[in-house]
Formats: sequence, structure tokens, C-alpha cells
Amino acid sequence: MNSYDEDICSAVSRADGNYFPMSPDITMTSSFHYATYEDFLAVSEDEKNNYVYTRGTNPTTKILEDKLALLENGEKCKVFASGMGAISATLFTLLEAGDHVLMLNTIYGEAVAFAKYLKKFDIEVDRVDLRETIDLADHVKENTKVIYFESPSTQKFQLLDIDWITTYAKKRDIKTVIDGTWSSPLFHKPLNHGVDLVIHSLSKYIGGHSDIVGGAVTGKKDLVNSIFEHGHQSLGATISPFNSWLAIRGLRTLPVRMKHLDQSIRIVLDTLSTDARINQIYHPYLSNEPQQKLVQKYLSGYGSLFSIDMVDDDFKKLSTFVNSLNVVSLGVSWGGFESLVLPAFKGNNLEKLEERGLKTSHMRMYLGMENPQTFLADIQQALDIAYGKIND
Ligand code: PLP
Repeated sequence: MNSYDEDICSAVSRADGNYFPMSPDITMTSSFHYATYEDFLAVSEDEKNNYVYTRGTNPTTKILEDKLALLENGEKCKVFASGMGAISATLFTLLEAGDHVLMLNTIYGEAVAFAKYLKKFDIEVDRVDLRETIDLADHVKENTKVIYFESPSTQKFQLLDIDWITTYAKKRDIKTVIDGTWSSPLFHKPLNHGVDLVIHSLSKYIGGHSDIVGGAVTGKKDLVNSIFEHGHQSLGATISPFNSWLAIRGLRTLPVRMKHLDQSIRIVLDTLSTDARINQIYHPYLSNEPQQKLVQKYLSGYGSLFSIDMVDDDFKKLSTFVNSLNVVSLGVSWGGFESLVLPAFKGNNLEKLEERGLKTSHMRMYLGMENPQTFLADIQQALDIAYGKIND
């Protein structure tokens, strides 16, 4: 994270006009009107960059898009009603019948489900597990048009060598798309490494308070304009200007929140990694040598989402542990104030877990903004109840 990024996050948004609000106006309108027919004709010449209808462009949303484009070092950003809105619009725009999309490592489940759904339009999808990048070439086909990945990946939090992937993909005219939500735009800059498009769920760190759902895609102007024209305008996942405003507000504290979380997660993982009741912890901070090299190369800080496998796969102990947590809440999503736990096992998804290489005792944990010692004390007392005290 650098001071330039911090300035973009916190900058007062300049209004056009003769007043200067500290916080931008929320332009809560569906449509815009014009003084003359000539004005309307002028605006209609470039509907993407003028204000006509909020399904396309809105002044509050535009402030957010401009800030995100600057943060990512991208030419243009388009914001959506959700992260999935951004993901589905991107794949919908980039792919056509007969194409193949390759998804690497563990990816947010709905994104994989959407890609698989595209089969009905004659689009093939493969999701493969790679260690770093070594065997990527084995999975690319003649008709591969998109390589889609997260780095670190959902659930297992493994990094990929992005320079390697983008160099390989560019030679074959394959577009690369990364979901960078885990790191926020502050700790990872995938566009600087040749990735074509970076996606974020704004519902996580950028919103930051568990009160909005939103998404964004950023990259080169032509590509984002195409996604705007087709995926955004046709599928219509338009964010409310109010949610854009909340995301702008979230951005102003993003640097301090990310700094705090980067420090807290190290404290938490240092302690949990010595606990005999936890079999494995998945987070780049605790990763092995080849992964550490990728951490040094790509990450300037750590996100606070991680996973654990317990020492055994006993469902009773798992449920006692989850039910004994007092500070950490049981719930989906992440990136807000409150710490969360989300067991991978939902009672009816054993097959899917096996497919993704996850154990029954696999749990995703989100360290929130609480004091890390409060988080640790809660985990430890719940472990004591479910798995017995360490010295028992
Ligand atoms: N990407 C990641 C890594 C996520 O964890 C999620 C949501 O949980 C999404 C994308 C989807 O974002 P949204 O919930 O805003 O649609």
C-alpha cells in the first residue's frame, strides 16, 4: 500500500458546480432531462459517457468507478449491482459459442456455477487445480478464450504466478480475468502484471461494513466498454447510487482498515498455527517456500480471510465449536467489521466438498476489526469446549 492509493481512497470528490460537498451528492435518480432537443442530441452521441439513464451511467457511481480505475491502475472501471453481476457480465461478454474457459484452483462457487451454466450456449468450462503454474499448458485447449482465477484462491488461498500466466495467455490471444477481492485493490495490483481484467466484490472490504452488495470490473477501456455495452446494459445488474455512495465512503477508511487487518491477521495466525487442535491453516502468511516467493512478488499486505481444517472430521465436535463461539458470528460473506465463521459442510454438499478437495471439518474464517486478542480468546474457548483443553 502506498500514499498515492491512500490519497485516492480519501480524496474529497469535487462536484461540478459552485458548491463543494465534503461527501459527494447521491444522485438518486433513474433518468436525466435536457433543456433542449439539441442538448439531448449531444448527450445521445455518447450515452456511455453522458448521463441519460442510471442503468447505464450515474454521477455518484461514476465517482466510484473513477476512483477504482485509479486504484487498479486501469483505464476504466464499470461498477455492478454485485460481484456476481460483474463476473457474469464479464464472462457473458468475453465468451461465445464454441469457446472454452479455464478456471484455475478453488474459485468462488457461484462463479464456477455460472461458467458451467454457459454449457447451454455451447461454452465449455474446466476447473483445474494447479500448483503455481507448472502444468497450465496441459489444460489449455485450441478454443480456450478466457483463463479465470483468484490469487490467492477461495478456501485454499494459494497464489499463482500471474506474470507467467499472462505471458503464456497473451501469446495465445487468451484473455485473463482475476477476482482480486481477497487482497482489496490496495494489496495487489494484477493489471500491473498483464492481467486483462480485475474483478472485485464491493460487498467485502471496499464496502467494509456488511451493508452493501456491489461489484466492479476494471481494465483497458475497449474491453470494459464492451462489457459495459453487452454484459452490463443487457443483463442490467445496475448498482443503486446509494450503494455506490456507501462504497465511496467505505473507500475512505479502506487503507486504515487494511493496515489494521494486515497486522491483526499475523498475530492471529502466529497463535493459531501452534494449536494442536487445528490440523491445517490455509493463508499465504503461513504458506511454504514456493508460495512465499509469490507472496513477495505480488502481495504488499495480507487479507484477513483464511480457512482451517480441524484435527479430525468429527461433525459433532465441529458443530459444538461453531455453536460455542460468542464473538465470531456464523454467516456468509466477509469484509465487514464483524468476525465470521463459515463451515464448508452445509449438511447436503459432501459431493461438492470432495470435488473441491475440502474436508468436512473445513471452515472459512474471517478476522474482522475486533482486537485480535478478542478474536483469539473466542476461538480458544470454543476449541476448549469442543476439542478439550490443550493440556487435557
Ligand atoms: N468473489 C469472491 C472471492 C467472493 O467471496 C464473493 C462473494 O462472496 C464474490 C466474488 C461474489 O460477490 P457478491 O456477493 O458481491 O456477488
